[in-house]
Amino acid sequence: MSSSTVITNIAALVTNDPSLGDNSPLGLVRDAAVVIDGDRVAWTGESSKAPATDNRVDAGGRAALPGFVDSHSHLLFGGDRTEEFNARMSGRPYSAGGIRTTVAATRAASDAELEAGLTRYLEEALRQGTTTFETKSGYGLTTADESRALRVAARHTDEVTFLGAHIVAPELADDPAAYVALVTGEMLDACAPHARWIDVFCEKGAFDGDQARAILTAGKAKGLHPRIHANQLSYGPGVRLAVELDAASADHCTHLTDADVDALANSGTVATLLPGAEFSTRAEWPDARRLIDAGATVALSTDCNPGSSFTSSVPFCVALAVRDMGMTPDEAVWSATAGGAAALRRDDVGRLTPGAYADLMLLDAPSHVHLAYRPGVPLVSGVWRRGARVV
Ligand SMILES: [Zn+2]
Repeated sequence: MSSSTVITNIAALVTNDPSLGDNSPLGLVRDAAVVIDGDRVAWTGESSKAPATDNRVDAGGRAALPGFVDSHSHLLFGGDRTEEFNARMSGRPYSAGGIRTTVAATRAASDAELEAGLTRYLEEALRQGTTTFETKSGYGLTTADESRALRVAARHTDEVTFLGAHIVAPELADDPAAYVALVTGEMLDACAPHARWIDVFCEKGAFDGDQARAILTAGKAKGLHPRIHANQLSYGPGVRLAVELDAASADHCTHLTDADVDALANSGTVATLLPGAEFSTRAEWPDARRLIDAGATVALSTDCNPGSSFTSSVPFCVALAVRDMGMTPDEAVWSATAGGAAALRRDDVGRLTPGAYADLMLLDAPSHVHLAYRPGVPLVSGVWRRGARVV
């Protein structure tokens, strides 16, 4: 028999179930308790009504919320891009290879080095409240290097994404059609068994709409579900392709026409916004307000990668989204938890409702609003994952 634990004396509990709380999207409960049984949430409600349990934890008037669901990261890589970032932020020209720099370093890394890096970033993220994460290949760009990245990732998460179509591999730069044939053929065959998702960087300089459609359609035929890097650097076909193919998520969504916004709002495709990328490249912010007001579902995620967004901190992204993207604190917290779960088509994480995984955090603060109100402060003071206290 599993043992049960009640966490009591929670000043403000985010459940993400309106019916459990104050009827807001966050389903907020004041003076709350959560009961964990095994790896699941068994009960949530007011502290005074909590059922008897084997163990008891006093939250000391802290806020509690579901663990963050970081639905977009690139954590299988070698090397780093410190010099490139330093030059960009110092206004100096820098003519290195961008993603190609990371591809060379990743190919040169051993399996153990790749896994050690992944583990380090995951532990970093866990300490900041992330209990579910997606991660991608995309820095190998050969059949062997892409499939080994996915094998390593699959030892740490179920949410593994094949991104062979990140850029055209350097050795096939003059023959992109041959690279698309490789990605949709031998590479896909080797990678599909280790992944749940397939992704494409649909952008000028990467893959156009027709190439992206061919790659995602081939992935679907192998049982992978699509998600797309869309409309990050410029207007383009990515978002509408995501909707056409019923992708779980269109990621970035920085440059959107009214037709793109309407398409997202009338679809099951989540708009995942990644403000770490705009922050780290001094780029224009995505307009979360416009998407939410139109009725689209919005997720917030880190895009943690060594080139354009080297942060594993969802709280940092929440603060940026509130400060610069027009989100309310409540909306940003919802998007980083329930929104991320929607972007991974999961209903067992991102919420604290009976039957969901007991993935949650305590904040050294009386309210989730402090995540945006106190930017840069390490507020996460306790994390439970699958019912076990891990921080
Ligand atoms: Zn990305």
